[in-house]
Amino acid sequence: MNNDNENAFDDLLAANREFASDFRYGGFDGIAKAGIAIVTCMDSRIDPLGMLGLQPGDAKIFRNPGGRVTEAALEAIVLGAHLLNVQRVLVVPHTRCAVASNSEEDIADRVSESAGTDASWHRFHVVEDQKRTLEMDVRRVRSHPLIPERLQVGGFVYDVDSGLLDRVV
Ligand SMILES: [Zn+2]
Repeated sequence: MNNDNENAFDDLLAANREFASDFRYGGFDGIAKAGIAIVTCMDSRIDPLGMLGLQPGDAKIFRNPGGRVTEAALEAIVLGAHLLNVQRVLVVPHTRCAVASNSEEDIADRVSESAGTDASWHRFHVVEDQKRTLEMDVRRVRSHPLIPERLQVGGFVYDVDSGLLDRVV
């Protein structure tokens, strides 16, 4: 495989020029206009803005495998709450998530097979009980010493087949 193919992104750059030709979001400052922050999974079936009826500029979005409240997610939420107008935080894992429906061994095996080299040393942070993990993650936000009392934090599961959010905590 050639990793240095300089044409590898041409289609996307062409699409970007099209996107920029009637660009409507210039001149915004970086605050969350609607006061929303979302922590959700990297899953391609999730449209974080669309599922909440939001537009670009409205929300801070932090994504990772599983939609977990990691140290980096907490860093983003603290910045959001104090400097970027965030008033409400939604933590949103989803149904049929790969990291919540496979074991650590299964995922490492599949990565090993694809990589052609052992991946068992790498942690993929699988989730064994999605609802309990979500409750724990929401608690991590609420109990953080730099998270203000006024911040509303909710935990929801997004159904990738119906598009609906189900509040868990
Ligand atoms: Zn996922």
